[in-house]
Amino acid sequence: MRDDLPPGEAPLYILKPGELVLKGGNRKSFEQVLLRNLRALLELGGKKSPGRLRGIRVEEARDRYFVRCPAEAARRVEEALDRLFGISGWARTRSCEKTVEAVFAACVKEGEALYSRGLRSYKIEARRTDKSFPLDSYGICAGAGQAIGNKTPELRVEVHSPQGIIQVEIREKAYVYSLARRGLRGLPVGSAGRGLLLLSGGIDSPVAGFRMASRGMGLDAVYFHAFPYTGEEARQKAVRLAEIVGHYALGIRLWTVSFTEVQRRIKEGAAEAWRTVILRMAMMECAEKLAHRIKAKCLITGESLSQVASQTVENIACTQSLLQLPVLRPLIGADKEEIIRLAQDIGSYEISILPYEDCCVLFSPPHPVLRGSVEEARKYYEALELGEEIDRALEERTMEKCGFPATISP
Ligand code: ATP
Ligand code: MG
Repeated sequence: MRDDLPPGEAPLYILKPGELVLKGGNRKSFEQVLLRNLRALLELGGKKSPGRLRGIRVEEARDRYFVRCPAEAARRVEEALDRLFGISGWARTRSCEKTVEAVFAACVKEGEALYSRGLRSYKIEARRTDKSFPLDSYGICAGAGQAIGNKTPELRVEVHSPQGIIQVEIREKAYVYSLARRGLRGLPVGSAGRGLLLLSGGIDSPVAGFRMASRGMGLDAVYFHAFPYTGEEARQKAVRLAEIVGHYALGIRLWTVSFTEVQRRIKEGAAEAWRTVILRMAMMECAEKLAHRIKAKCLITGESLSQVASQTVENIACTQSLLQLPVLRPLIGADKEEIIRLAQDIGSYEISILPYEDCCVLFSPPHPVLRGSVEEARKYYEALELGEEIDRALEERTMEKCGFPATISP
């Protein structure tokens, strides 16, 4: 895409807000969060701004945002736009005076650009917010189409499945662009409170975090480590995953809690078939305590119904039975292929499949309980008296900042 953008004058980008346009009275507050996030991703403002992207300007208009930047910053800007939740799309655009001649000339250039990129069919979509412009949308499409046809006759008009769409917007100025890129959609991160993600080194939990960030949730993450049963490489996997998801979530604080002793106690004291469920209960209890301290409003897991024994609906009932906070499971109805595809899109898949085992794999019983009863689970769990051990593990937690833009101090 990057190479396909119109060359020439200083890059200008047009951004379309996504779902937040459906908001009523509180729309303004969503917009403010979106703009704050955009500025943060562009590393604008703030005391710690490294000034690497000097000369970038963000402008607001009705239903649109614009980013103007020097040519050398274009790549960074595009990377930032690709990581911004809350916009339905963006494009590098031409802008011109609101005269018929200037608009047609811009369309002709855009047509030439499409043709030189190898596209052979197109259509025009026009939107006239400024009704004082002498042509209506139909008139713009018809006139611009004719002008393009005169200059680049090899480029065919194709209404149903064109290879390119030239968009014309007549507003404060006139804008002409094509090759719009799909935005991440969703809602701006930070508009929906903060959740604590239980992040393992697997495929699912990073995707779960991404999904919640896409609904506007800011993230902290907790990783339960069982050194020496799981090595430092396994923990580094969690760090790298937190960095990747953090790039979309405007940073993640990753908390590492050492669960070696808790796991040892479970291994020694619990019936083998119950180990995984009991360990999950301990992780949940510990995560909830951490959530209270860091003021997270919910827990987030990568569970998907019946994917493994600990994720049957009965066992999920067991693992959440001690909790007050809501547990959000954005992947509960997703199948593995779908999750893998998302992980590939996000860029977490390659790291998730690195071979270092996480603690639960080493710990799994050969014949786990499939449909545990909550009463039994709680009875076994309470008999182990893990409370003090969990508190101790929590006290000794460590924290790393992963994927924060330079201008945000966590
Ligand atoms: P994942 O790919 O996310 O590891 P999974 O299919 O391996 O998922 P489980 O191992 O059963 O599933 O874990 C279910 C959920 O419990 C995970 O998605 C994650 O949210 C949480 N979890 C598991 N292990 C850990 C861990 N070591 N630290 C933090 N959270 C964990
Ligand atoms: Mg796992």
